Amino acid sequence: MSTVRLFLDTPLGADGSAALEREHAHYLFNVMRLGAGDTVTVFNGKDGEWSATVAEAGKKRGLLSLTAQTRPQSEPPDIELLFAPIKKARTDFIVEKACELGCRRLRPVFTRYTNSERLNLPRLRAHMVEAAEQCGGLSIPTLDDPLKLRDVLAGWTGRLLIFCNEARTAPEISTALAGLDRGTPVSILVGPEGGFAPEEMKAIQAIDSALPVSLGPRILRADTAAVSAITMVQSKLGDWG
Ligand code: SAM
Repeated sequence: MSTVRLFLDTPLGADGSAALEREHAHYLFNVMRLGAGDTVTVFNGKDGEWSATVAEAGKKRGLLSLTAQTRPQSEPPDIELLFAPIKKARTDFIVEKACELGCRRLRPVFTRYTNSERLNLPRLRAHMVEAAEQCGGLSIPTLDDPLKLRDVLAGWTGRLLIFCNEARTAPEISTALAGLDRGTPVSILVGPEGGFAPEEMKAIQAIDSALPVSLGPRILRADTAAVSAITMVQSKLGDWG
């Protein structure tokens, strides 16, 4: 069984120890039944991944002693997802999968047909931490405060914007990505369940660096579209190659 992996928001360095707050102590010692001398893996998004042993196991506290850095810090590819929030569980799914698939930044955007304007960012961040712990990630993607799509487009700075266009008139995504260099910074835009409004389609197409793509002949749910687009971008331009 692989060792328990934890994201700790604390410096990790060769000088040796990392204090455990209540929630981590509870998880390690009550839920996972670990105790003094057991090994865990920790990361903090800055200092790489470290192996550690439990030095003190208390009810509400604990202490880990770091033994060695097992992986140096590295960043996921510069891929960000702009997505319109959808129903809660499906938004959770988008956020969790975007983290597992190696996005560096998540940018919720409100569009005309967005059907849920309430986002619980701390809860979404907790999902991302869990996903990173599970998938072996070394950092937690940044999760921006939601903005109106039109404001995001108004300030667009020329970065490649892969626009998932449900009209399916655009080239299929792998054709559209051919010829681009691996490592190209990429933003992916997926609309809400109601799709993009006509004026939004126009505003997106007016962006010079927008690249409309089709994700195949079928209409995908927004969460399916997000996963499909990230997968194709990672495979062609990201760190899967
Ligand atoms: N209500 C829209 C309609 O019936 O045309 C469908 C919107 S779809 C549920 C949600 C989002 O997923 C779209 O805005 C688009 O970004 C993306 N999407 C879904 N299917 C797609 C496809 N075949 N090609 C490109 N993007 C797609």
